[in-house]
Amino acid sequence: MALRVEQDIFLIRQRGREVAAAVGLEHQDQVRIATALSEVARDLLHAVGGADVTFRTELDTTDGRFVLWVDLTPVRPLPDGRYAPASGAVARLVDTLSAVWTRGDTVVRMSRRVPASAQALTSDRLAELRAELGRSAPGSALDELAEQNGQLIAALDEVRSQRDELAVLNAELEETNRGVMALYGQLSEELEETNRGVVALYAELDEKSAQLRAASESKSRFLANVSHELRAPVTAIIGLGRLLTDSASDPLTPEQSEQVELIRAAAADLLTLVNDLLDLAKAESGRIEPDWTDVDLRVVFGQLRGTLRALSARPEVALVVEEPPAPAIIRSDEVLLAQVLRNLLHNGLKFTERGEVRMHARRVGDRWRLAVSDTGAGIPPELQERIFEEFYQVPGSSRVGGTGLGLPYARRLVTLLGGSLELASEPGRGSTFTVDLPVDRA
Ligand code: ADP
Repeated sequence: MALRVEQDIFLIRQRGREVAAAVGLEHQDQVRIATALSEVARDLLHAVGGADVTFRTELDTTDGRFVLWVDLTPVRPLPDGRYAPASGAVARLVDTLSAVWTRGDTVVRMSRRVPASAQALTSDRLAELRAELGRSAPGSALDELAEQNGQLIAALDEVRSQRDELAVLNAELEETNRGVMALYGQLSEELEETNRGVVALYAELDEKSAQLRAASESKSRFLANVSHELRAPVTAIIGLGRLLTDSASDPLTPEQSEQVELIRAAAADLLTLVNDLLDLAKAESGRIEPDWTDVDLRVVFGQLRGTLRALSARPEVALVVEEPPAPAIIRSDEVLLAQVLRNLLHNGLKFTERGEVRMHARRVGDRWRLAVSDTGAGIPPELQERIFEEFYQVPGSSRVGGTGLGLPYARRLVTLLGGSLELASEPGRGSTFTVDLPVDRA
């Protein structure tokens, strides 16, 4: 098409839209390319007095889509061979818009891609389109103006409907926001409520543990007082019993001396219990202060070996106290440590019918592990923690004597010495009590 006079701009615009429609561009794109074309045509008419317009299609082999190309070849060279549209918005209406140098001319070239859904532009189809366009007589400038008005109204309508849509969307968004805010409010209220509950719970817990502490303290005080008060009369009973059976006293009948012996034995048991209670109460109330010195485990083990050998009455049970590996020095309280180990050995001998009771010491890093193991009855798993409770004795074991206070006391002492006392036992095979202590208090 030739662009020579003002009126041609309308015709070119109209043709541009028709070609765009013919190759399958969507309605909006038809208007876009027609508008861009008329703007560039106006620019070129004013700048160089006209141009020749060519429409062309080409297949983009990378994605199989067609591209509509429009070339506007100016009738005279453009100043400096350059072109820039008067309105910057024009370039945005098409995919590409630029001045290209081709066959000795500067050509203004624009393009727009045809959607993949459009009918394929075979050579037959193109011939058909060309014939169709040839038949349609170009309308007048007024026709094109009317057409343009129609398009403008449609565009305005579209803008309005988009604005309405936007308003609806905004309203929905506001509604959602209100919902989210309400939910948020509800959640923070719930959170506050929960927090208040937790705070109250903690206060109650604090109160309960203070009550527990007070109860435990008064129990220890009670035990200490009672056992202290009991010790004097029980000691008196034992002494008086001894006096009665003394050879210097008046002779007793055999029955009487047997009864006095029973009284003495019962009083001796009572004294043991009272002493144990007093020890435990002292340990619990924190009134035992360890006397920290460098203790030689070999010495402690040697003394225990000597004193306990006398205790192991059964020939079927061997008492083995292994020599600790040198140097066997530990920072501890010798009396308390010996008390703990004696207690464990004593228990081992008490609850073992045959086999052995063995004590050994192992150095593991910066700790000493002192273990007392036996081949006795063992302790069922569910009772292994209970035997560390005051007065607890495994059912049936009270017949061999005892108070059920030895282990809780031993554990208190070991804790006081900075270590732990643990038990591993298998019923029927035996038990191992392990005292784990730091080599140095620090
Ligand atoms: P006591 O020995 O005076 O009864 P303890 O506190 O020393 O009190 O021990 C509590 C209980 O643990 C014992 O009565 C016994 O049932 C059990 N027990 C302790 N040591 C052993 C052991 N070496 N083998 C089997 N049972 C044991």
